Amino acid sequence: MSEEMTTVDMGAIVSLCKRRGFIFQSSEIYGGVSGSWDYGPFGVELKRNIKNVWWRDMVQRRDEIIGLDAGILMHPRVWEASGHVEGFADPLVDCKSCKKRFRADHVQDDRCPECGGELTEPRMFNLMLKTFLGPVEDEASMTYLRPETAQGMFVNFANVLDVSRKKLPFGIAQIGKAFRNEITPRNFTFRTREFEQMEIEYFVKPGTDEEWHERWVKERFEWYIQYGMRREYVRLRQHEGAELAHYAKATYDVEYLFPFGWAELEGISNRTDFDLRQHALYSGREIAYFDEDTGERIVPYIIEPSGGVDRAALAFLVDAYHEQRVRGRKRVVLRFHPDLAPIKVAVFPLLRNRPELVALAKEIASELRPHMMTLYDDTASIGRLYRRQDEIGTPFCITVDVQTLEDNAVTIRDRDNMEQIRVAVPEVKDTLLEKLSIC
Ligand code: ATP
Repeated sequence: MSEEMTTVDMGAIVSLCKRRGFIFQSSEIYGGVSGSWDYGPFGVELKRNIKNVWWRDMVQRRDEIIGLDAGILMHPRVWEASGHVEGFADPLVDCKSCKKRFRADHVQDDRCPECGGELTEPRMFNLMLKTFLGPVEDEASMTYLRPETAQGMFVNFANVLDVSRKKLPFGIAQIGKAFRNEITPRNFTFRTREFEQMEIEYFVKPGTDEEWHERWVKERFEWYIQYGMRREYVRLRQHEGAELAHYAKATYDVEYLFPFGWAELEGISNRTDFDLRQHALYSGREIAYFDEDTGERIVPYIIEPSGGVDRAALAFLVDAYHEQRVRGRKRVVLRFHPDLAPIKVAVFPLLRNRPELVALAKEIASELRPHMMTLYDDTASIGRLYRRQDEIGTPFCITVDVQTLEDNAVTIRDRDNMEQIRVAVPEVKDTLLEKLSIC
């Protein structure tokens, strides 16, 4: 009998991520650097799978959305037009005693939360990371590491329209790194200074924007559920009042209930025609769409679903994490959706000192490798090998045992219910492809 234990705490997630090779602290041997993380062998697979399913669902399977990969470094005028130079700032206070800095809206009263010291008046602090292009570090060579991928899609609107000949509504999708000099990076990989975004800029006729906004909010909410998040841990929240960005007519956040509370995974904004008009103004170029039905040139409205890859990865990890008690022992298992699981199948010989078993297990692993992420392991006893795979969320384990030499069949163990079935070796590949729904 197994029984579910209480809800997860962040400490358990952080320690599993380190122990099993999902996420390491950046530059750990030098004492680490705040707000930056490195994805280990299984973390990189998880993140890649999230990006792949997003791209498959948002780009490959749709006729009206096309991809782009714009540069991280852009013309500095882009950030003036976008409003980031002027407005992308948080109010900060400094402690006069311990010199620590806090976001003014994160401080409860007028004293330093760390030492109780007196605080300065709030000052605005721009979140963009500056850099210099070329050998001379002066104003003329200064630009920023992009704080969002979106602007690359706005400034390429005319290029993409010219080559794709799309009709409204159509979208541009992009996945890429963004940088923000967050004052208080925190909650593991939730708030970092370097992160990845998956964004769509969806261009629609003005007047149809509210309807499209509503459709995208629903679609993006359901996407997280489709890949396994428990519905009661995901919610929508509308931005109100001052929280609404300067460019937005309305914004909804998809939020996940992390151990540290409800927090944003993705924002879906109605950005109106603000961005295209700003870039037209600052660049002096016309940015418009020719409507063949009416013979008019119009500036489309933009609906923007903007999610973070790292936050999605963290939420999928937290949601998949389960502790159980099995015959008196704790079992930690990550119940990832098969499309997200870093490794799809692991193959073991029951006895690593039997060359025939080892050879056969290795042969089965190499036959599976072209079709799915496969791992061969013989470095521990079978019980420990299963535990390891449970902890990285591998849906199936195959064991080659002594009986295999007689009946040419292996055991396939299911991660979730731990049930084992016996399958003839020639049928293993198709059985797994079917169970994992890989066509
Ligand atoms: P927050 O309010 O949490 O600072 P935001 O509203 O500023 O986030 P957006 O500008 O809407 O975030 O960015 C879109 C998405 O990019 C977010 O939903 C989030 O998933 C991701 N993102 C933004 N900032 C960070 C960060 N510092 N670390 C990790 N992911 C981030």
